[in-house]
Amino acid sequence: MQRQQMINRLDEGGEWEVCVIGGGATGLGIAVDAASRGLRTVLFERYDFAKGTSSRSTKLVHGGVRYLQQGNIRLVMDALSERGLMLKNAPHLVRNLSFVIPNYEWWESPFYGVGLKAYDWMAGNLGLGSTEFLSLEETLVAAPTLDPEGLRGGIRYHDGQFDDARMAIHLAMTAADLDAVLLNYFSVETLMKADGNICGVSVKDAFTGQSYEIKSKAVINATGVFSDTILHMDDPEAATLVSPSQGIHLVLDKEFLPAETAIMIPRTDDGRVLFAVPWHHKIIVGTTDTPVEFPSVEPKAQTDEIDFVLQTMRHYLTKDPSYTDIKSVFCGLRPLVKGGGRTASLSRDHHITVSDSGLITIAGGKWTTYRKMAEDAVNVAVRRADLSAGPSGTSDLRIHGYLEYTDFESPLYSYGSDSVHIIDLIKEDPDLGEKIHPAFPYVKAEVLWAMKEEMCETIEDFLARRSRMLLLDAKASVEAAPKVAELMATRLNKDADWVHKQIEEYTFLAKNYLPSINR
Ligand SMILES: Cc1cc2nc3c(=O)[nH]c(=O)nc-3n(C[C@H](O)[C@H](O)[C@H](O)COP(=O)(O)OP(=O)(O)OC[C@H]3O[C@@H](n4cnc5c(N)ncnc54)[C@H](O)[C@@H]3O)c2cc1C
Repeated sequence: MQRQQMINRLDEGGEWEVCVIGGGATGLGIAVDAASRGLRTVLFERYDFAKGTSSRSTKLVHGGVRYLQQGNIRLVMDALSERGLMLKNAPHLVRNLSFVIPNYEWWESPFYGVGLKAYDWMAGNLGLGSTEFLSLEETLVAAPTLDPEGLRGGIRYHDGQFDDARMAIHLAMTAADLDAVLLNYFSVETLMKADGNICGVSVKDAFTGQSYEIKSKAVINATGVFSDTILHMDDPEAATLVSPSQGIHLVLDKEFLPAETAIMIPRTDDGRVLFAVPWHHKIIVGTTDTPVEFPSVEPKAQTDEIDFVLQTMRHYLTKDPSYTDIKSVFCGLRPLVKGGGRTASLSRDHHITVSDSGLITIAGGKWTTYRKMAEDAVNVAVRRADLSAGPSGTSDLRIHGYLEYTDFESPLYSYGSDSVHIIDLIKEDPDLGEKIHPAFPYVKAEVLWAMKEEMCETIEDFLARRSRMLLLDAKASVEAAPKVAELMATRLNKDADWVHKQIEEYTFLAKNYLPSINR
């Protein structure tokens, strides 16, 4: 998947059948679905693939125990089915993870136990393992750093976990394998219309400034929390659709939860759900649900959100995490579809609307349901634009990199079948086996692979989304930045100014992920 080759295909001109705006989970899923039905498909992403919400999730592939508590049975059933399909089609990226709910009150074990047994039952033969009631001793073996004072026991259940940005890159590669054109750093600037009907988009390449007019039979707005901006390009009077809600995660060292089991706190002091999840040898803790008026591509964690997460974890862990323990704080915006009331109670389901001009907008949902969302959106596009295409086949489509057996301890596991190419690069040039930072397994060959095959254009693309260093340890990622910039500059023929600017911009961005230096 190479950017210049994709641009060359744009230059060939002609009419597209499906044009997708937005390269997050939703847009990439749509590109895969449309291309797999043989439709001529193009996708534009304003920044990098998954730069928005789709690289900032809790990394769970789940039915949503919380939605079960809210009585949203259909949403849970659909998501559990999608969880099973995601595990089946991307076993190199999705794994089965066990979660413990600690019980400090007598009623918690029967109350949550019954709910989770129902959760298992709803998953049917796509279940990941049975819910078990744990004794006090078993609970502490599973989660040794849980505060034992007042602890009665626990419940263990199973859900899926994945690497969201890597899944996004592999979805982009899947669509590219199916002949779609996907371009990052290409923003949709205006919508083109003929007789009031949408007939394409005009786009701009962020690197060259060059504009292109792209004709397409169907145009799908999959821009998450930015959906309203595109809706207003279509009709300045259109009612707003999305209520962004911010969620933060803190990343801590593994010593705070030195096990391969996650902790789920089903009800915090203010009625939210909080997770502490092992991920890439660190612990992710979150999240929050704070309404936001104006969406930003780099949302910032508020001090009271950080305090809330730290304070809640201190109730449950033997070692109290503090500001200086935070390796990184990352923040994402949920594209909740408007209703009334608090954002925590807004619909997590997805919504598709078609405007008078024919613009199709899809918003809401969650990462776990991206495939079903894509199928539904493409069905609407096929009907609306009278496209010639059969039904979706993505429930049986293997995602790029598919490998049946994955060793999740292997440093290159998330590349799936592509890991052999990285190993080959190192065999050809052993210098490429050098680590980019002593505390992380990432090697120079991965930078090269990302540039050659994964449309990695900036050092942020590599440090934040091709690898996950920014999220895992923001300070270490800044230390690695010069090495990544030098390597990229050599291969891209860039000068010292480019290197300097890349490092400067990256360092500025990474500061937002380091709360202790911002206090
Ligand atoms: C804190 C948090 C935790 C979550 N945890 C989970 C979880 O554990 N499991 C789960 O299943 N779901 C989870 N979700 C939900 C999930 O992450 C989102 O539903 C999903 O990522 C939304 O994807 P999207 O593609 O709709 O939006 P985005 O990922 O935001 O993508 C939209 C894209 O559109 C692009 N764009 C905007 N304007 C333009 C333009 N003019 N031209 C071109 N491109 C444009 C943006 O740059 C952006 O990349 C979580 C969400 C949050 C906020």
